[in-house]
Amino acid sequence: MELVFPLEMPTLAIVGRNVRFPVRRIYCVGRNYVEHIREMKEGDERDPPFFFQKPSDAIVSEGAVVPYPPFTEDFQFEAELVVAIGKEARNVSVGEALDAVFGYAAGVDLTRRDRQKESFKKGLPWEIGKSFDNSAPCGPIHTVADVGHRLKGKIAISVNGETRQNGDLEQMIWNTPEIVAKLSEQYTLMPGDIIMTGTPAGVGPIKPDDKLVVYIEGLEPFSFSIGARED
Ligand code: MN
Repeated sequence: MELVFPLEMPTLAIVGRNVRFPVRRIYCVGRNYVEHIREMKEGDERDPPFFFQKPSDAIVSEGAVVPYPPFTEDFQFEAELVVAIGKEARNVSVGEALDAVFGYAAGVDLTRRDRQKESFKKGLPWEIGKSFDNSAPCGPIHTVADVGHRLKGKIAISVNGETRQNGDLEQMIWNTPEIVAKLSEQYTLMPGDIIMTGTPAGVGPIKPDDKLVVYIEGLEPFSFSIGARED
């Protein structure tokens, strides 16, 4: 066995550029749309935002086939706006927060819902339900220079051509500047960090051969599909 070996850095494409965005950390926001909190029947609508992470090598890019993961019978999609950080941010105010944003992408927080619900009930960590292999499909990043800040506008996902989630970024309980500011109190945000900002109502199960397309107003649609079961 080799003692030293090359390890590839996960990256995301940047629309209109021939360089890629290296991914350092993936932060996710839990319960950030009221209707989704109601459909999950857990948590309080006035709770402050809370965060969890996925491993950066869980990134899956445009056109990929995500194998149906082991250890779940309830594999679900959550369409989310992804915020890409381009500048160090520590303890920034809501007013300063957008200065740290490099761009935006459409992504999906793939979830083993059965495992997540068990963890919630038992008060255990969420990793098994949220932070597994290939659990972070993410489209190419659109720079703020090209598309501005995406604070409102449609967010939707279709599965096999049928719309399953259809919301507006304005429905976020904590908006992007508030999320960046709050997260920067807990961690020093660095270039290469990305944040999945929570999902609107309408989440649901997916199965092998399903084709998913995420739509966020102002960004290119992002698509990938689900492959055969791994186990
Ligand atoms: Mn989510």
